[in-house]
Amino acid sequence: MEERGSPDGDLARSLEQGPEGPETPIQVVLRVRPMSAAELRRGQQSVLHCSGTRTLQVSPPGGGPEVAFRFGAVLDAARTQEDVFRACGVRRLGELALRGFSCTVFTFGQTGSGKTYTLTGPPPQGEGVPVPPSLAGIMQRTFAWLLERVQHLGAPVTLRASYLEIYNEQVRDLLSLGSPRPLPVRWNKTRGFYVEQLRVVEFGSLEALMELLQTGLSRRRSSAHTLNQASSRSHALLTLYISRQTAQQMPSVDPGEPPVGGKLCFVDLAGSEKVAATGSRGELMLEANSINRSLLALGHCISLLLDPQRKQSHIPFRDSKLTKLLADSLGGRGVTLMVACVSPSAQCLPETLSTLRYASRAQRVTTRPQAPKSPVAKQPQRLETEMLQLQEENRRLQFQLDQMDCKASGLSGARVAWTQRNLYEMLQEFMLENERLRKEKSQLQDSRDLARNEQRILAQQVHALERRLLSACYRHQRGPDLTPPCPCLMAPAPPCHALPPLYSCPCCHICPLCRVPLAHWACLPRERHLPQVLDPEASGGRSPSARPPPWAPPCSPGSAECPRERSHSDWTQTRVLAEMLTEEEVVPSAPPLPVRPPKTSPGLRGGAGVPNLAQRLEALRDQIGSSLRRGRSQPPCSEGARSPGQVLPPR
Ligand code: ADP
Ligand code: MG
Repeated sequence: MEERGSPDGDLARSLEQGPEGPETPIQVVLRVRPMSAAELRRGQQSVLHCSGTRTLQVSPPGGGPEVAFRFGAVLDAARTQEDVFRACGVRRLGELALRGFSCTVFTFGQTGSGKTYTLTGPPPQGEGVPVPPSLAGIMQRTFAWLLERVQHLGAPVTLRASYLEIYNEQVRDLLSLGSPRPLPVRWNKTRGFYVEQLRVVEFGSLEALMELLQTGLSRRRSSAHTLNQASSRSHALLTLYISRQTAQQMPSVDPGEPPVGGKLCFVDLAGSEKVAATGSRGELMLEANSINRSLLALGHCISLLLDPQRKQSHIPFRDSKLTKLLADSLGGRGVTLMVACVSPSAQCLPETLSTLRYASRAQRVTTRPQAPKSPVAKQPQRLETEMLQLQEENRRLQFQLDQMDCKASGLSGARVAWTQRNLYEMLQEFMLENERLRKEKSQLQDSRDLARNEQRILAQQVHALERRLLSACYRHQRGPDLTPPCPCLMAPAPPCHALPPLYSCPCCHICPLCRVPLAHWACLPRERHLPQVLDPEASGGRSPSARPPPWAPPCSPGSAECPRERSHSDWTQTRVLAEMLTEEEVVPSAPPLPVRPPKTSPGLRGGAGVPNLAQRLEALRDQIGSSLRRGRSQPPCSEGARSPGQVLPPR
């Protein structure tokens, strides 16, 4: 179980979310080498003190303010090589490399600070003399751990290694079969920066790998100067290629190309140095300048990588061979571990502070770890790319469709609004018209009720006038030889047939008013019943038989037999006549109805019985006129002459 807060634990947590996980910061651990015998001899003091496992305090000589730096782990001089190996987190990187990630471990610091020692232990004591196991550095220990780990994987793993150095801005193959010669650094889309024609050696055992390491170390340029008797004069990169498939199963895309899979790269940087401090001259000064220039380019790239707007910024990885080959480790898809090395000596304080600041800033550089895709996985990758393109096209089309919908909805919205407005106006019009029709209907109903009432009153008046007319006629014609009058007239009070029949049927003897059968004698002879009343002259030359009775149903308005339409004069005459008969003033209950066109429904303007009543009134008027004329020519025997207004007795 990893220690909480250790680089291994932090890195594991940051990568638990998968290859496409969040940005992962560069892990930085600090190693403080012990004071060398020479430094102690010169009486130099240590200005570095560890506080806990992650904090380093710097105590400047002379009592200046202390400065503290915090890293993933701080390993002081007392820590052994094994402690450094276990605490720095390199095993986690080995695990990630086995899973296909590209991982890098590099040391950084002033020359003579222990970078090479931390990675590979002390310099060999002689040709072919191996480093004692207890002093072996991170690289040897990792090799041993990795090979043991591979043996327990239970799956075939192919291990290859390359080893190069960058010396005076030239890449040299430390594993080349012949003498090292400069190799070009190329770039392509799939591999990024790579060294062309670099020899990649497959190995199958720890011993073989150690031999490759020793070969490279022995060929690497180193020189002695004031600060380091075995100072590395080049940046060295040893890379392990880890493939969990055999070459037969997964051939490389290009011949000579390293197999695709995980990588674990160890970078031993040449230390920055002050030429004045190291006393370099000639070739050494040229090497120092080249080293410093490449380290300066590295520092510049890290500074830009710390810029929040770095995605819009250009990172000058091409400024040096070192930054080219570290581009993927610093700003790409790799996982990176930096081991910053410092000397505790007060004499090295300026460079130590510079290294500490540099390392602190590097902690904020992040990468996006991503496992490289194998050729077998390229088909799904193409499909995934195609799917992403289709999804993008789908989004674009959906966007266009939404825009069209918006426009269409805008148009239809206008139409809907227009339709709703029109419908509302139509509804208002319908409501107004409905209200108007309702009022008109109410008026028509009132008018109809008024007409019916008028009809009823007129019928009563006509009825009364008929009775009085017949009574007057009977009294006027009464004589000893006359047959008894109709019981309708003689009877005292029955409501209907108390009136004498005005015009009885000659064969059935039925009272025409109430339809009651009468005695035979009760019926007046046809010629004597109303011969005077129905005067042919007064009736327009028509015989009584030819003339329809007053109560007969009215003929159709267009018929030749139809009497003329009522007029205002008719009403006036009728009223005068009624007043003459009743000797009272007759006030019409309704004004005379206007003359309506034939198509107008009579039911709404007075009912069907009104014309009939008018005819009956007209007939009564004729009869009364005839009676008055007869009365003037033949005065009654029992009564004196009287005025026409006194013909009829008062009620
Ligand atoms: P650099 O590579 O940074 O220039 P080196 O690794 O070559 O420095 O170390 C310089 C000297 O210091 C070497 O002689 C090395 O043996 C010694 N040294 C460095 N680190 C340690 C250490 N942790 N313990 C003992 N000796 C060390
Ligand atoms: Mg070195």
